[in-house]
Amino acid sequence: MSKEERSKMKKVDEVLEDFIRRCNNEESVKSVVSFSAYCSITKHIKPRETVYEVNGNKWHVFDTPFYKYTYCENHSYHCFFSKVTGFTCRISDNINSKDPAYCELGPEILDLVISVNGCPTVGGKNCRFCYKNNTNKPATNMSFETFKKIVDTMPKCLYSIAFGITGVQTNPDFPKMMAYCRKNDIIPNYTLSGADLDEDMLRESCRLCGAVAVSCYSDNKELCYNTIKRFHDCNNLMHINMHIVLSEEEEQLKHIWNVLKDIKEGKVVGLRNIVFLRIKPVGRASKLNCKIHLDTYEEILTYCFENHIGFGFDSCSAPDVAKVLKDMNHEEILKYIEPCESTRTSFYINCHGIASPCSFCEHIKEWVDANVDVTKCIDCNDFIKNIWHNPVFDKFRFPCENNQDKELECFKCYYYF
Ligand code: SF4
Ligand code: SF4
Repeated sequence: MSKEERSKMKKVDEVLEDFIRRCNNEESVKSVVSFSAYCSITKHIKPRETVYEVNGNKWHVFDTPFYKYTYCENHSYHCFFSKVTGFTCRISDNINSKDPAYCELGPEILDLVISVNGCPTVGGKNCRFCYKNNTNKPATNMSFETFKKIVDTMPKCLYSIAFGITGVQTNPDFPKMMAYCRKNDIIPNYTLSGADLDEDMLRESCRLCGAVAVSCYSDNKELCYNTIKRFHDCNNLMHINMHIVLSEEEEQLKHIWNVLKDIKEGKVVGLRNIVFLRIKPVGRASKLNCKIHLDTYEEILTYCFENHIGFGFDSCSAPDVAKVLKDMNHEEILKYIEPCESTRTSFYINCHGIASPCSFCEHIKEWVDANVDVTKCIDCNDFIKNIWHNPVFDKFRFPCENNQDKELECFKCYYYF
């Protein structure tokens, strides 16, 4: 990171501290709003503002090269996203009040698949637990035109696209797509195995991405560690995470503990966080039991705390992780846990432009039958009205009582667990 970038970052950090201080002091909504307009980094850079009206409510999105800030005039919704550090804060009146139920304007995070199949094999094999059932068969790729059409219809509150790739080389338009994201105030990120990462793609990813995650497979953990180090040596990316499948299968648990030990011993250079992705019984993992014991969560959390290992879990684990943290008397962390955000602040679109709440729902009959095609949208208003506020998604995002974890006030998955 250059000296200039470091100094920009410092300024962003100061602004964020100010933001958090204001929220904690329970200042009025107005002062939080004025923060966005007058915070120190915007003294010289006037934010670009986009205004929307949704169901009679007025929404504003401010963009500068450093942050995106979304708020609604008529009810308490504020989302601050730092384009430099990745810090995200979503609040209603203040940081201690209940989180807003969902972003009425549109998704903030988009999981967008741009390739099916065309996977680079690891050790000559296709990945064991691939929930997408992808293989090294010839690829089907999303075209740049389709990608552009989808991005162009999104409301500006979208700050991040997680690209669903198979290999980094599989879709030849991938670098162009990431560049298009940056041009449109969206920060790209993706997950890779590292098997087909050449120097050009490494450089482009470090230049354009806000974060990358490297999958760690039991049959080739060294590939993961080397890939993390290569990104680290590029010296530009702040968030280089590791993704590891969380399952109670004996071999996988052994792998998890080996990796945690390696991290503790400093063998994974450049790693920010290890992120546990709870196994879902889908695709090649369909025969696996997706139940994870609370004891397993507790053992992993204890080890990470004791050894100062940065960690994360996918939002599917949120209710269980929250329960365990509560039992471990780590209540202070609970407010940072985000339960399933599908259709509330995130959205999934497959390679053909068909939307569903998350990537694990895509094949479920309800969503296959709904066949919500985003490529048919004429413009952003059409997207907000007919896709984001389509009754099928409203039904999903406002769960019935049976699908709510009352104690933790969060949504329980309809389909798994
Ligand atoms: S996990 Fe990724 S790389 Fe592995 S088979 Fe599935 S899509 Fe391909
Ligand atoms: S709907 Fe279920 S599987 Fe999908 S992200 Fe939410 S909790 Fe996870």
